[in-house]
Formats: sequence, C-alpha cells, structure tokens
Amino acid sequence: MSDFRIETKCVQGGYTPQNGEPRQIPIIQSTTFKYATSQEMGKLFDLEANGYFYSRLQNPTCDYVAAKICEMEGGTAAMLTSSGQAANFFSIFNIATCGDHVVSCSTIYGGTYNLFSVTMKKMGIDFTFITPDCTEEELEAAFKPNTKAVFGETIANPALTVLDIERFANAAHAHGVPLIIDNTFATPVNCRPFEWGADIVTHSTTKYLDGHGSAVGGCIVDSGKFDWKAYAEKYPGLCTPDDSYHGITYVEKFGLEGAFITKATAQLMRDFGSCQSPQSAFLLNLGLESIHVRIARHCENALAVAKFLKENDKISWVVYPGLEGDKYYKTAKKYMPDGTCGVVSFGVKGGRDAAEKFMSGLKLASIATHVADARTCCLHPANATHRQMNEEELIACGISGDLVRFSCGLENAQDLIDDITQALDAIQ
Ligand code: PLP
Repeated sequence: MSDFRIETKCVQGGYTPQNGEPRQIPIIQSTTFKYATSQEMGKLFDLEANGYFYSRLQNPTCDYVAAKICEMEGGTAAMLTSSGQAANFFSIFNIATCGDHVVSCSTIYGGTYNLFSVTMKKMGIDFTFITPDCTEEELEAAFKPNTKAVFGETIANPALTVLDIERFANAAHAHGVPLIIDNTFATPVNCRPFEWGADIVTHSTTKYLDGHGSAVGGCIVDSGKFDWKAYAEKYPGLCTPDDSYHGITYVEKFGLEGAFITKATAQLMRDFGSCQSPQSAFLLNLGLESIHVRIARHCENALAVAKFLKENDKISWVVYPGLEGDKYYKTAKKYMPDGTCGVVSFGVKGGRDAAEKFMSGLKLASIATHVADARTCCLHPANATHRQMNEEELIACGISGDLVRFSCGLENAQDLIDDITQALDAIQ
C-alpha cells in the first residue's frame, strides 16, 4: 500500500484478503489461540516465532487496523491501545523510567497534562513544560542530561496552538532524543508528522479516526527512524537484553523499524493489559474507511463557524488555526495545507457565566466530554477536562474561564450558525 495515496490507504490499507476470505476485516472475537504442541506455544512466548496466543498482547483484528493506521502515518510498526491515554502513557513509559525526564509542550490535552504532571511524576518521571511558542533559549534550557523524549500535540486540545514540528524535532534530535507527537486533532489525512521529522506518533482514535463516538481507543505508530542504538546508554530497555524475554535485545532482534512497538507490546501490554477489543477495532476501521471524506467536511464547517464568530459582536475572541489572521495560520498552512481540524475555540463576552449560559441555550450542539464527533458538541474546559488545574496551570495550557470548545460535526454549516445565533441571543 505504500505507493498509494492517503485516501486509498484509508479505505484499503492494513488488510488484503486472499481468495475466498472476508472482504471486511474479520472480528476475531477470541481471547486465546490454539496450538498443537507446547513447543510451538513456547516459541511465541520467547518471541522466537510470529503468531497469536492471547488477545491481551495481540489480536489479528487489532493488528489489521493498527497496520492501516501505520500505513496512513507512513510508519514501520504500530499497535492499538485501549485509549488515547494508554497510547500516550506507553509512548513515554516505553523509553523513560524512574529518574528520567521528558520535555513536553504545556498546551496539551488536560488528561495528558494530568497523566504527566501528577501520575507519571509519582512514578519518578519528571516533566518540564514549555509553550510551543517558547524562545530558542527556553527550548534549549528545558533539556537535562536525563531527558528521554520531547512530547507535543500537532494541534493542541483545546488551546488550538499548532506545533512547529520541524523545530521541535530538530531540538529533540540535537539532544539525542525522539519527538513524540499526539496527532489526534490533525489526523494523518491532514498532517503526517513523520514527514517533518517526528519519530513516534500517538492517537486517541476515540476522536476523528473513529469519528462516530462509538469506541474509546488509542494507537501508537513508530517511524522506525530514531536510532536508539546511537544513544544506547540512554535507552537500555531497547538496547540491552530483556531478562523477562530470555535476554532478547529488541533493537538487535527487531531492528530500528520494529524494536519500539515490539517492546511496548511484549512488556507494557503484557504487564498493563491496556488492549483494545476486536469489536472496538472493527468499529474504528469503519471510521477509518471514511476519515478522508469526513475530515474535509469537519474543517469546512469549522471554518464557516469561525468566520461567523469572528464577525459577531457577542464574541470576544476566536481561535481557529485554519482562519486567516489566526496566530497559527501560517504554521498550520505549512503542516496542514488541506485543512486543520473541526474544533473552534472562542470566548463569549461576559466571561465564564456567559459562556455557561450560551452553552445551555444550544439546541443542535450538545454539551459532551468529547470532540471530533459526527455530531456537533461543545465543552467548557475550565469546568470539565481541565477542572483539576489551578488558574496558573490553566493559563499555561492556554485556557481561559470564558473558553468554549466547539467541535463542528458533519451537519449543515448554516444550521450550526443558526443554533449559535439563537443561543447567543438568549444570553441575558
Ligand atoms: N490526546 C488528545 C489530543 C485528546 O484530545 C484526548 C482526549 O480527548 C486524549 C489524548 C486521550 O484520549 P482517550 O480519551 O481516548 O483516552
């Protein structure tokens, strides 16, 4: 599939049936797989042979779908996870451990911020947060001798900052560490971070890739380009023998193209069990088959809504990277020339109270802890996803009290604008 264009990969990537096999990806709803001898099973446990033995580690349906996302991103290996949270956790924990340090953008999804700054901190991994607009000096100063990775979101949820991927990749590589990009909002249809130097990509597939709000899921894709061996002392987990797999050294046995995902599957999925169900993977694939058509409509609707809001005197500010004049418009055009995402953030005049009243007045757009759905939905992050943060942390994440995150679905754009108009008129 590698020679085909993204649209074709969305529809047909990952799975090529042979004569008489199902045309649709089959749902292999089985926890276990049968073998004739213990020796054959033993070889699988030792990673000496390819095959399935227990769906916590690998399942054919999940692997077909992971292979499709891998092709869409242009990677060499991929795995599905139970959620986007699990994908981001694994992507870091696969290469960083107690005593290590990671540089992360501060404008990231609130759940990821919490994962890094609270939960992973408790595990002994220290994070330095920097804004995507930081100066060269600030970026340079964020690195420490024990830094193991740099993390950021292509388009941040909900601040909608756009990461200069090339700049961050160069900085990461100058310090001998990989750049991990959460590409959830852009999707591989609009941006493929590997083409700009990123090394690992993660997704909350719960969002646009599924697109119908039907299954929580995540994915990790490896570009296969980061040279772990060149920095072997930093990445002993990949470059020295793994005692829990009879002394296998992942980079030796699986090469740069397969080491990262094999280790994450063999160790992290085995021990944490954050696997995706085959049913969910099947639903995800239905979404993938139309993502290239859907994301264009999400972007079209979002641009129409953003333009309308920009001209509306009841709105104090609008952020949409696809809108001309937006702070990130130029960066977005570089990395996402065909469109950004369907999410628009804006402030309602009158602050927090007005924002809450406006949202209660919406009839078509529902209030939901979700984005990137076929049905338009909205959220007040300061009250929901980012509720745990104090004022200082909210500002660092680019979130103000009046911020409404409006995720444009696939409805008619004028109907969305009419809904917003009547809800704004209803604020007293
Ligand atoms: N990354 C981004 C950019 C997100 O928006 C989200 C959830 O909203 C996540 C990760 C976490 O994904 P999940 O909810 O699938 O665990």
